[in-house]
Amino acid sequence: MRQFSRLFGLSLLMSVVTAWAADPALTVYKAARLFDANTGTVSEPGWVAVEGERIKAVGTHEAVPAHAKVVELGDVTLLPGFIDAHVHISGQSSDNWYKDFYASVMRPAAEQSLYGARNAKLTLHAGFTTVRDVGSSEYVARSVRNAINDGVIEGPRMVVSNYAIGSSGGHADEAPFPPERIAVNRTLQGICNGADQCREAVRMQIKFGADVIKMIPSGGVLSLSDPVDNVQMTQEEMNAAVSEAHAWGRKVAAHCHGDRAAKMAIAAGVDSIEHGSFLQDDTLALMKEKHVVLVPTIFAGYYVGVHNEKFPPSIQVKAQAAAAAIQQMFQRAARIGVPVALGTDAAVEPHGLNATEFSLMVKNGFTPAQSLQAGTKNGADLLGLGDQIGTLEAGKVADLVAVKGNPLKDITVTEHPVWVIKSGRVVVSP
Ligand SMILES: [Zn+2]
Repeated sequence: MRQFSRLFGLSLLMSVVTAWAADPALTVYKAARLFDANTGTVSEPGWVAVEGERIKAVGTHEAVPAHAKVVELGDVTLLPGFIDAHVHISGQSSDNWYKDFYASVMRPAAEQSLYGARNAKLTLHAGFTTVRDVGSSEYVARSVRNAINDGVIEGPRMVVSNYAIGSSGGHADEAPFPPERIAVNRTLQGICNGADQCREAVRMQIKFGADVIKMIPSGGVLSLSDPVDNVQMTQEEMNAAVSEAHAWGRKVAAHCHGDRAAKMAIAAGVDSIEHGSFLQDDTLALMKEKHVVLVPTIFAGYYVGVHNEKFPPSIQVKAQAAAAAIQQMFQRAARIGVPVALGTDAAVEPHGLNATEFSLMVKNGFTPAQSLQAGTKNGADLLGLGDQIGTLEAGKVADLVAVKGNPLKDITVTEHPVWVIKSGRVVVSP
């Protein structure tokens, strides 16, 4: 249909086609329970009325709107579509690190995009109707985002960063390939040294379609040539990157395992700290005070610990250290009351298992309701989409997930959604 209207270049035809394609019917989804992400409570029963791509009304015991088509979902809980604030849709890893490394070098972006499309579909079918993609090469994530927005492929709503911003030799940089054979990364690829270059690197990402800026001021786990927790950007570089991003209306997500780098990133004004493995209590308290969101990616830390033997020795040591620290750090963050948004680092572990993070949060001190808020409302707010998604309220986009039973009693039911609806369209149904 879209192709047809484009062929004729008639905007009038296009608007007629759009109006015709939108389903004017009011559909009411009735469930045994409804999760309110604002209060963290479940009401029984509950219903959501959907018209086109928007929520028209939400109720419990009230009569459903007249003339609506009613869909009885049965013994399920209706929740807002889940949000993962830390994924890498363009990448994936298998049990063979060396094979994955080879593929990452040899596979052109066009080919990798097909894998990205598959990963996007897996993520959506797992109930994650929105994701923030914080790091990709050669615009694969951006390509997947645009194809989803155009209705070409199936996937979640995506907020993407393009390349991450960081220093030469740091976690944002490529592996130390012989520079005579593989070109060294520059600002176009997010690599910067000095404040001016870091501004340029941010501008480059925005020029080529970044919705958010990912900054790497600290070492990382799955990179070959850096320690896991050192400081990799100067205060001036961080200040430049963050102020430039904010000047363009983009938020900044800072990858920090190390505590010192996190303190500097917070001083620079970042919006979220990713991972946070080695954060100290005073840093966590500062995040609470300044409302800097923690995106803990417990699943990734857990996964690299369990599958440690697949990595080369230099990465094994770092993965063990991060795996040992991250759950304990989250327990302290939960006690202190740091704002948390759910993130998984999917690509480190297989795509489509994102809901595992809910259980890991609950195992480490969150109530089920807190974990669900982290994966809905808090994620929406962090992504700057709080007025559109994240709660079930009239006027918002109709992103709905239905899970069996009551997730406040058994959080693992989130791992097998029975209904997934994105923008009013049913994606998964029994
Ligand atoms: Zn990541």
